[in-house]
Amino acid sequence: METRILPCTKENIEKAAHLLRGGELVGMPTETVYGLAANALDETAVSKIFIAKGRPQDNPLIVHISSLSMLESLAAKVPDTAFQLAERFWSGPLTMILPKTAAVPSSVTAGLDTVAVRFPSHPAAQALIDAAGVPLAAPSANRSGSPSPTSAQHVYDDLQGKIPLILDGGSCTIGLESTVVSVAEGQITLLRPGAVTAEQLASIGAEVTIARAVCEQLRPDEKVLSPGMKYKHYAPKASVYILDCNLADFVRYVDAHPQEDCYALVYEGEEQALSIPSVTYGRAEDSLSQAQALFGSLRKLDELGAKIVYARCPSRQGVGLAVYNRLLRAAGFHQITL
Ligand code: AMP
Ligand code: MG
Repeated sequence: METRILPCTKENIEKAAHLLRGGELVGMPTETVYGLAANALDETAVSKIFIAKGRPQDNPLIVHISSLSMLESLAAKVPDTAFQLAERFWSGPLTMILPKTAAVPSSVTAGLDTVAVRFPSHPAAQALIDAAGVPLAAPSANRSGSPSPTSAQHVYDDLQGKIPLILDGGSCTIGLESTVVSVAEGQITLLRPGAVTAEQLASIGAEVTIARAVCEQLRPDEKVLSPGMKYKHYAPKASVYILDCNLADFVRYVDAHPQEDCYALVYEGEEQALSIPSVTYGRAEDSLSQAQALFGSLRKLDELGAKIVYARCPSRQGVGLAVYNRLLRAAGFHQITL
């Protein structure tokens, strides 16, 4: 099949909505990363997502909505705390896990009795959901395991020939996947960090617990609250090592460990300090810029043929926690503290 990339005009959004209503897949821009969308209420359409991505069947999908009335058709029970979160953070990069209704096919939720719901803020995503007239199941539009796509070209590189259409909404402004929380009355569990931070979640007055899987590797037999967290993720082909130290120690370590096809993943302006080639991911002390750049930089390292990558260690505060969480998985939890 030919894969077309089209700009987000009203006409092209209508074209995409028509494909979605007919059970096809569409690459959709959002503020977090590009999504691979299907009609969430159509089991056959949803099954195509898993095939196109090579996604394990037990990794559930996020359902995207463009109104609170859509939420009521998907979630059997919405605790007050979830309504408070919706009021404060929707539309935006927050996904809530709630008990599902019978309308949600079990393939969307990988057999779980809960559904993940998000109301994206990207105008083209909202327009597409509105035009399709149904909620859209959409995981990140990458091949399973590779870094999530933050441009239409990334989607094309991964899914060319497997989907008919990608709507091009430019580069994603956030660049990392949404914050995922499970919600009970007065209690929020952070399952995946994102641009809505733990600190912000706590501001509504609920108790916030950070799931252990966010920063630690679980044992293979351990129960994981968010199935996606157990998979190798966001990984370039190179072996990545996070060096948790200042720039001077980073440079010393890299110089003392010469390797073939070795690159440094550093912050803007640090390249000159290094004796090996480097790729940058945002600015030091600026987690938002790191979030926006990280996945594109991991893809660039692949293009350059990097075999070993030494990466600067992000802060774990605010949005930095999300950057750290993704980089830690890209590194297969290889972190060296100096
Ligand atoms: P992706 O859209 O590719 O970023 O993946 C969606 C993420 O949401 C995965 O990591 C899933 O584990 C998580 N998720 C989706 N539905 C649920 C659910 N019902 N319970 C827990 N986590 C979920
Ligand atoms: Mg994904």
